[in-house]
Amino acid sequence: MKRPAAISDTLVITRALRRQTTVRAPASLAPAVLRRVGLADVYWRLDSPIGALHVAQGPAGISLVRRAGYGPASGFERDFQRRLGRPVYPASRPPSAALRRAVSGKGLREDRRVRFDLRRLTDFESAVLRKALEIPAGQVRPYGWIAREIGRPEAGRAAGSALAKNPLPILIPCHRVVRTDGKIGDYIFGSAFKRALLRSEGASPEGLEELAASGIRYLGSESGRYFCLPSCGGFESLRQSNRVPFRSARQALEAGFLPCEDCRPAA
Ligand SMILES: [Zn+2]
Repeated sequence: MKRPAAISDTLVITRALRRQTTVRAPASLAPAVLRRVGLADVYWRLDSPIGALHVAQGPAGISLVRRAGYGPASGFERDFQRRLGRPVYPASRPPSAALRRAVSGKGLREDRRVRFDLRRLTDFESAVLRKALEIPAGQVRPYGWIAREIGRPEAGRAAGSALAKNPLPILIPCHRVVRTDGKIGDYIFGSAFKRALLRSEGASPEGLEELAASGIRYLGSESGRYFCLPSCGGFESLRQSNRVPFRSARQALEAGFLPCEDCRPAA
């Protein structure tokens, strides 16, 4: 019986392949397939308020954000491999509009379509970073506030360390967390970039530091009888004339002011 041509061809090819004892897939095949089906990490170079960033994304979400600088992208690829233990490749498709928007500093909070891959972090580190996501643009909170809000009031210093290791700066706004004494403090890309980012969001880092240096930690609203962290509601609140300065939450509470429900300033 004559076999159909397709089956006959297959048999010939199979026999030929069997005679090849050392047939191997090229090394580039597995990564290429992983990229094609969306299972590899890929990265883009995107503009942010502090210059170009490399932003990597894997199947579980955004996996690493670093400043792009002027050097070759191979530096980012090596950094990624060292930190995450797997390779990253230049993306062959454009980033989502949501990601582009978030990196440009135009908002993330209202857009939950950007997912984060925080699997390598401890539960504590992850809780700290997710809490930082709740700080509105243009506002700042002290490290101690983050610690208190996640139910670990004694862990302000550890919260600072977790923020310093933030794998996704800008997207997770660790730049909005400042020292408990009111100074703007360090930043993963350096203090100057932290200030620049805050300014790009409409905050005045110098104004906030000046206020803190004069011993003022909270501002009360005379008419509303509540008190806030100074950046609550934006820097505009600092200029209003009916604001009452307080050196401590206790002083505000004793004066009959209630803690604001938005910034939750009381210890
Ligand atoms: Zn407030």
